Formats: sequence, structure tokens, C-alpha cells
Amino acid sequence: MSDYETVIGLEVHAELSTKTKIFCSCPTSFGADPNTHTCPICMAMPGTLPVLNEKVVEYAVKAGLATNCEISRNSKNDRKNYFYPDLPKSYQISQFDKPLCEHGYVEIDTEEGKKKIRLLRIHIEEDAGKLNHDEFGGGSLVDLNRAGVPLIEIVSEPDLRSSQEVEQYLRKIKSILEYIEVSDCKMQEGSLRADVNVSVRKKGETKFGTRTEMKNMNSFRSIVRAIEYEANRQIDVLEEGGIVEQETLRWDEVSGKTFSMRDKEDAQDYRYFPDPDLVAIKLSDEYIENIKKGLPELPETRKKRYLEEYHLSEKDANIISSSKYLADLFEKASAICNNPKAVNNWIISDISRILNETEKEPIDISFDSNQLGKLVLLIDKGTISSSIAKKVLTELFENPRDPEEIIKEKGWIQISDEGAIKEVVLKVLEENPQSISDYKSGKDKALGFLVGQAMKQTKGQANPQMLNKMFIEEMNK
Ligand code: ADP
Ligand code: ZN
Ligand code: MG
Repeated sequence: MSDYETVIGLEVHAELSTKTKIFCSCPTSFGADPNTHTCPICMAMPGTLPVLNEKVVEYAVKAGLATNCEISRNSKNDRKNYFYPDLPKSYQISQFDKPLCEHGYVEIDTEEGKKKIRLLRIHIEEDAGKLNHDEFGGGSLVDLNRAGVPLIEIVSEPDLRSSQEVEQYLRKIKSILEYIEVSDCKMQEGSLRADVNVSVRKKGETKFGTRTEMKNMNSFRSIVRAIEYEANRQIDVLEEGGIVEQETLRWDEVSGKTFSMRDKEDAQDYRYFPDPDLVAIKLSDEYIENIKKGLPELPETRKKRYLEEYHLSEKDANIISSSKYLADLFEKASAICNNPKAVNNWIISDISRILNETEKEPIDISFDSNQLGKLVLLIDKGTISSSIAKKVLTELFENPRDPEEIIKEKGWIQISDEGAIKEVVLKVLEENPQSISDYKSGKDKALGFLVGQAMKQTKGQANPQMLNKMFIEEMNK
């Protein structure tokens, strides 16, 4: 088995976050009632004419520049002909032989160091509608809200060699698109999805094997599982003397297997031709130069800055810089509380944990950097203990508001009043004479137990440093 090598190439589709569709002025927002974001153009009424949304070109050029592509000065739109009920025109407007961007690359980290994954091209195209299958057996209904939503398709060369590399690559693409703000990349809403092409070959072989393709995959976990399953399936076929058929497969999450959908079509089956309703796309050097100048700092550069400016660890800098939302939160909250180390810890530990537990992504964080910065300030000033701060953070996730308001409302202010602390200490000591003698006979654990009891009695609100000090003082009297 290990004498085989897996070869993977990805076609990543990202929905662009322009306000309106690619060829009409319907809104692109997700989740509206079926067919409410439609007009004669995106419903493909005869006689209607498309007009290219300039923002789509701008966003695609941004994506191309951020992934080291050459930008074509001369580009055009083509019709890709196929029949499917979610495509009322019976063709998709895409780009064939003159894509907007070509020959780029992104870098990923592998065990052997950095690796360049080459991009063949990035082109623009329109999304299709969606079929809603009636669970009760009543057939399927077409929703055209998504028809005409702009997409970029990022096609990689077959440079990926393992499911881990694929995951790294996809995360990198997602991170870059988020940074340049051209897509929200919400995978569960289908804003970012990938067609995954897999083949295997004997190690040392120079020719590629026959590939199969799994379309429209939108979770990292499924992609990783599907690649591993499919590579093993192909190896088994070859080992048994068979040949791998070039075909489109469907990944089934429940059984963890791939199933054949249809034979793979070739470009010629689509009968591509230039769309006669649209003009050529001609870009000037000045136009491209302007977009280049406006590009924001990209993940790699931010990471470097976090290492040098904030002295974050390599691992933390990687995690925080890989998401624009975490990175912005980190920098803005740090500026407010002047304690980047604390903000870093909150993001890496508690915030990441809550995101994981609630299956949310950084983009879903509803509190802002101001509120996180204030939370850290309240701990630094001694107003709340870190255990109370964790409760405030949970509140911030559920119902974001000013942390000071939260602790007032909940009565969570830390007790740092000497008299009040002393009262609790004396009470706990009276209730636990055994712990006093344990402590006096050198059992340090007893002190921890007493502090714990006092914390319990004050619902976590007593200042732990003061408790510690006062217990020792009282017991040494
Ligand atoms: P399409 O699938 O639309 O016909 P291409 O022929 O350009 O388009 O290939 C699409 C993807 O398949 C690219 O990402 C490419 O890297 C990948 N690919 C091509 N050949 C192989 C192969 N033998 N094994 C794995 N991936 C491949
Ligand atoms: Zn429309
Ligand atoms: Mg394909």
C-alpha cells in the first residue's frame, strides 16, 4: 500500500460577497424565502440581457493578486452548455480559454517545510439555482435565489499529495479570501466548496493515474475522510489488476464511502463558446496597479508581525493570524487593554474552546474587540477574578454587552474588602478544624482545600490572593 502516492487537485468555488448578482441587480444575501431574490435576467426569461457587475471583476483580480497570479489584460465570458433543472438558461456563463487570472501559487506548511501549490487559473462564473427535495416524496422545487450569485473558481495544479496537505491548502485559501474581504467563506452555507480530484500512482512513476472527482464538498472533515477512502479504493482496484474509471463520485458521509454518479464529461461535451451578449473584459495596467495598492496585509505578513511585535509563540501566531476575524479581535482588544499576552491567551484557550464546542467559526463571534478588551481590563484591575471572567465570556458569546454591565447585573464583582474576606476565612476555619491541624503538620494541600471552601461560599467572588494570605496569617497566629 505504501508504494503508492496519492495525487490531488482542487477546484475551489467561492461565492463573492458583492451586494448584487453577477449579471443583474438582485441581492446575493443568504437565507431569503425561495425565489424572492430573482428577476427576469437571473430567471433566464427570453430576450433578457446580462450586464457584468464590475465588482465581480475587481474581487476576482484581488483574489488573483493575493495568490501571486498573472492578471489577464484581455479576458472574456463563455457559455458552458449543460442541462440541469437548477440552470434555467441551460448554460452557465463562465470563462473558458481566457480566465481573468493564471499561474499563481499559495504556500502551505508541511512536515518537510514550506511547499508551493501552483494555481492553474482563477476565473469568474455564475452560480446555479438550488433544488429543494421534498422530504415527503412530493418531488423537487427549484429555488433561483442563488442563480447568478458570483463565484470565483480557483483551480489548482495536481500538486497536493495527502489529505493533510489538502486541508492546509484549503485553510490557506479560506484565510486569504477572508483577509481580502471578497467572500465570507462560510462553508456550511456553501460559500466555499471544493471539487476534489483524486488519483493514485506507484511511487517513482512520472505519469499521473486516472482521477475521479467528488463535487461540492464543504467540510474539512468530509474532504479529509473522502480523500483517504477514495485513494485506498483506487489502490485496491489497481492491486486486483483492475483499472480506475474516470468518473464523478458522490461522497456519502454516513457510510463513509464514495458512489458513482456519472461518467466524467470532457470540456468538449460542454460546447463552450464566447457569450455573444457580453463584451470582452479589458483591464488597464493602471486598474490592476490600483487594486494591488489597495490590498490589505495578508496572513503570512501578519503572522511575522505577531512574532516580532507581540512576541507570540509560533503556534499562537499561526492560529490567530490564520483568521482575519481572530486577528482583528486580537489587535483591537490588545490596544484597549494594553495586555496582548492576556488577549492572546483568551483567544487561544477559552474563545477557541467555546467556538469548538458550539461548532461556530470566528466570523460568528458576536461580541466585539471593545468588549473583550474591557473584560481583560476588569481582571487586571482586580474587579473580577479570572474564574468570574470565564463566566462573563460565556455571557458575551450568548448576549454581548458591556462586561461591566454584566457583572453589575449578575452581582459578580470580586470581594476584595478585608473585613468581608476575614469573615469568610474565620467561618471556614471554624468549620474545618481538621484542616488546620493538617496544615500545621505540613500538609500544604489543606490550604488549597480551605481556599476552595471559601471560594465556594462566596460563589467564586472572593479575591483568591487575599484568601490565601489571610488563611496563612490566621493559622499562624
Ligand atoms: P475539469 O475537472 O473541469 O474537467 P481540469 O481537467 O482542468 O478540469 O482538472 C480539474 C482539476 O483536476 C485540477 O484541479 C487538476 O489539478 C486536477 N487533476 C487533473 N488531473 C489529475 C490527476 N491525474 N489526479 C488528481 N488530480 C488531477
Ligand atoms: Zn436577478
Ligand atoms: Mg472538475
